[in-house]
Amino acid sequence: MLKLINATKKYIDIEDVRGISKVSFSASRGEVVCVLGKSGSGKSTLLRVLAGLETLDKGSVSINKNCLATYVSQNYTLWPHLTVIENLTLAPKLKSKNSHKTILKEASTLLYRFGLENYANNYPSELSGGQKQRVAILRAVMAKPKILLFDEITSALDPELTKSLLDLIRALAKDGYTMIIVTHHMSFAMFVADRILFLKDGTVLQDEKAIKFFTAQKNPEIKSFILDITKRDESIEVFKGREQFQAYHIGLIKRLPKDSTIYVAGAVGDSWIQPMGEFYKYYEEMRIKKRITWKMVTYSQGKTDRRLVKEFPQLNQFRRLPRTIQNPANYCVTEDTVITQIFEDEPTIIQIKNQHIADAYMRFFEELWNSGK
Ligand code: ADP
Ligand code: MG
Repeated sequence: MLKLINATKKYIDIEDVRGISKVSFSASRGEVVCVLGKSGSGKSTLLRVLAGLETLDKGSVSINKNCLATYVSQNYTLWPHLTVIENLTLAPKLKSKNSHKTILKEASTLLYRFGLENYANNYPSELSGGQKQRVAILRAVMAKPKILLFDEITSALDPELTKSLLDLIRALAKDGYTMIIVTHHMSFAMFVADRILFLKDGTVLQDEKAIKFFTAQKNPEIKSFILDITKRDESIEVFKGREQFQAYHIGLIKRLPKDSTIYVAGAVGDSWIQPMGEFYKYYEEMRIKKRITWKMVTYSQGKTDRRLVKEFPQLNQFRRLPRTIQNPANYCVTEDTVITQIFEDEPTIIQIKNQHIADAYMRFFEELWNSGK
């Protein structure tokens, strides 16, 4: 969908003052890439280059033929003198060949789909920060781009507002948009990103699958960056290594009320049972006794999963996820908590305790469940 080769953009012609230098990277259709890095590392420059707002000094940028990339920055510039619906339809009315009626219909459908239909005739000043942001994104969508570039659109948001933004981004990813997102919010990046691009001094220090980036990070400098943003994100806690992994799950099954449900997406049960080791038996007895259900949607079913479904059908609900459906993370959700798990190297848990994020994951789970067989 898009490709950068050795892209270099210097703002001033001195070796050290640069936007980006020799950046190579590509993204395919429907991929969501989050760009992380310290302030001044070149994140905005990269997006602006992709949007065609900056010209390169060296290297090349190529975007698939007929594919438009639109850029939404944190200074969402809605026209203050126009209503929401007018903001959405103004540019298409001027540029597109479609009738005004069709354009209006498209805009209304978008507003309805994302719960903003009651604000169609309001002015931007009458909207909350989060609503303005979503309208700005939908206005970008009205131009029918294939690529969406978001620059720190979460920076001004409290968790409450981030919530509907999570759903919006997830829905757009499902629609097949390629998205490059600059953010400082760890729980946001973890929720939406397939891949992480980490920039340092205008160059790519790492380009990695999101789950691996966060949980199996080898680079000490990036590790300390992650630790830093994790600390700022009060809702996140990380549990690393076999012992902590086991203790976490035993603690979880003890604290969950009777008859509750753990929603599991992505992992094969067997790959979870392995790091649980000798504690698995204890966990399972406790779970059955408390009638806690595993509702699972995974790509394949393990041996233990099959046995459990046979033995305790009510407590083990299972659906197979077709390979065509992307699920970037192994996670479970229960009540207000999301538990992202990694089984490579050391078993690791990233716990996100935030009701809004848990709700968003839950809705994502429902989608996966409904796509399963
Ligand atoms: P980030 O978005 O990661 O904070 P930027 O891409 O905005 O980083 O900036 C990267 C580097 O380029 C910084 O050193 C910044 O000072 C410099 N820079 C960005 N825009 C300009 C500009 N218009 N003129 C001069 N220098 C700039
Ligand atoms: Mg920036």
